[in-house]
Amino acid sequence: MYIDGQWQGSELSQFEITNPATKQVLGSVPEGGKKQAEQAVEAAHKTFESWSKLPAQDRSRLLADWHRLIDENKEEIGKIMTLEQGKPLQEAIGEVNYANGFISWYAEEAKRIYGETIPASHTNKRIFVQKQPVGVVAAITPWNFPAAMITRKVGPALAAGCTVVVKPAEETPLTALKLAELAEEAGIPAGVINVITGNPQAIGEAWLQDERVRKITFTGSTEVGKQLMEGAAQTVKKVSLELGGHAPFIVMEDADIDHAVAQLIGSKFRNAGQTCICTNRVYVQASIVETFSEKFEAAVLQLKTGDGLEKNVDLGPLINKQALEKVQDHMDDAVAKGGNILAGGNSFEKNQGLYFEPTIVTEASDDMLCMNEETFGPIAPIASFQTEEEVIGRANNSPFGLAAYVFSENIGKAVRVSEALEYGIVGVNDGLPSVPQAPFGGMKESGLGREGGHHGIEEYLEVKYISLGI
Ligand code: ADP
Repeated sequence: MYIDGQWQGSELSQFEITNPATKQVLGSVPEGGKKQAEQAVEAAHKTFESWSKLPAQDRSRLLADWHRLIDENKEEIGKIMTLEQGKPLQEAIGEVNYANGFISWYAEEAKRIYGETIPASHTNKRIFVQKQPVGVVAAITPWNFPAAMITRKVGPALAAGCTVVVKPAEETPLTALKLAELAEEAGIPAGVINVITGNPQAIGEAWLQDERVRKITFTGSTEVGKQLMEGAAQTVKKVSLELGGHAPFIVMEDADIDHAVAQLIGSKFRNAGQTCICTNRVYVQASIVETFSEKFEAAVLQLKTGDGLEKNVDLGPLINKQALEKVQDHMDDAVAKGGNILAGGNSFEKNQGLYFEPTIVTEASDDMLCMNEETFGPIAPIASFQTEEEVIGRANNSPFGLAAYVFSENIGKAVRVSEALEYGIVGVNDGLPSVPQAPFGGMKESGLGREGGHHGIEEYLEVKYISLGI
């Protein structure tokens, strides 16, 4: 673990990190708990004083140095990620580039935290508005994006002048620790970034109770997000949550079908379907559903599933047994409710890795589990619809509201549908919308707040109003 610029924790009991493709042990990390969580906050709190007062240019330069080192080490970080998480190596290196994009974006944005002056009500007064960093930030991150979920929290937090305590997922701490090592090498001062590993409940509880922690930023399940939000109420911390999704992918009859198919492949099967903005359900207008399904089937049959370190692999293993069981449950339920398997449909084990074939289920109905609950795996259920109004209603009939996709060559229709969708992100003729400069986040139970872009840094800033009598 990395606390206050020191690598520590070897005296604690350790837990093993395994490769999901082979179950081989890659290494072990300390089982930290309440004590280490408090130590990390102590370090971050002590350092906040100096870090928040550093001129923005200096914070920016340090972030730029960190960015450069991540870029120079992207192959190594990508390999660590494939080993501990399973995604194919090229995809992992792609994630490192994406993750690093948040560091460079916020290195620049650090210099643009502008205030305001507002006309006063009295001639002898002036109104100034300043932005100030919130203080110590606690970041809790998931296993599906071991690098990007960290940089898109830590990048804006550091740029704003906050210090951070980070707890990566138990499955993927090695990528996080490598990033911390490079931050140290970049000269980011001790205590600014602290990364601890260990018991999620104990660490989470310590941070929630600690009044020095002024902000919790979390990406993960809706269930844990709700618990953290409730816990944060004890000391009224600011909260940002990126939770589950259930993305609808809508194909109107005037869509460019080949383009829609290619985008669906990326949106559905990236990270073997294990992302919160992965398409979960596909709605195709009835007049084109057969043509669309045939073309989609042909594309899916080209995909290769295997160990992410092998060449030309498109889908790696699922993260663990529970993940596989959930996908299998959704599959069995879809078949029991009249779904037709057009491609895939099977799980398999190879070298102890657990895989699920990229799968298409046609004749999907709205009562299937996969049409309502987050599958987090490579199943694409296709349902047909008749009218625009109908598909908007069905797409919005969900407690989730993270990402949605709509494909149409009619610009008026595309704008109308995208405006009617109750989702924080809408890809119009675009299945891969995430970029560092755009606001990412969900409506309804998919979360609170936005990450990325100039919106993302606001989450780490307080607004201070100074009323000046002259
Ligand atoms: P996932 O289904 O992606 O594993 P989780 O919400 O369980 O989603 O995990 C996301 C992150 O939240 C991980 O870092 C995990 O260790 C952490 N976590 C899980 N339970 C808690 C908790 N009770 N308090 C704080 N963090 C938790």
